[in-house]
Amino acid sequence: MGRCDVQRHGRLSRRILLFIVIDAVIVSVALASIAFPLPHELMTDDEAYLQLVNRDHLFDDATFKKDLVPLKVRTKNDTELRLRRVASRALTDLFAAAEAEGVRLYAISAYRDLATQRALYNNDVKANNGIDDHSTQIPGASEHQTGLAVDLVGREWLGYTLTEAFADTVEARWLASRCAEFGFVIRYPKTKESITGIVYEPWHLRYVGLEAAQYMTDNELTLEELWMLWYLYLEDNVL
Ligand SMILES: [Zn+2]
Repeated sequence: MGRCDVQRHGRLSRRILLFIVIDAVIVSVALASIAFPLPHELMTDDEAYLQLVNRDHLFDDATFKKDLVPLKVRTKNDTELRLRRVASRALTDLFAAAEAEGVRLYAISAYRDLATQRALYNNDVKANNGIDDHSTQIPGASEHQTGLAVDLVGREWLGYTLTEAFADTVEARWLASRCAEFGFVIRYPKTKESITGIVYEPWHLRYVGLEAAQYMTDNELTLEELWMLWYLYLEDNVL
């Protein structure tokens, strides 16, 4: 390596170092000023509309708010489905708005108790030669147990196994663009499979409340990421 190369190498190194320093300063400034973007009570109150339920955070039936009511929306074969009161009301409004724009939705699954989820999971694993392919949540890990999650489709998908292809329908596009206005999010987005651990489910809506739904949608955040922000905020401000 000649002298000239050494100098150039040195300059490059200094430049890289400078970037690292600048990055570190920006990161530390960002951390120092970290603020949580939603009212704190949304993360802490007993209503638990933002409760995180997944394989790492199993749903505890003992904490369940037993305010389930029958849905007043179109369901598959007129089956009675239930959700928590606030989510049911929001869903009624969502259906009315969709209907007014010529979009006919059907609710095909809503609240499930632990025993139902266990039966679903066992059947699924059995049908898959004893292998858990993660297509059905283990008992305790399903959001449907919270009474805040609902699966919605259009008429042509009734009776079919749901796949990602549902995303390419009028109903799914309407849901993706409008559900936040009613307090729902598409809980398992296509680009966040590695974070949620769940494949893209354009039919699975989760009620989180208006404010959180709008924020999560605008910032493309999953519930896992929202909770991560909350814990970062707590570390920085309380601990
Ligand atoms: Zn679902």
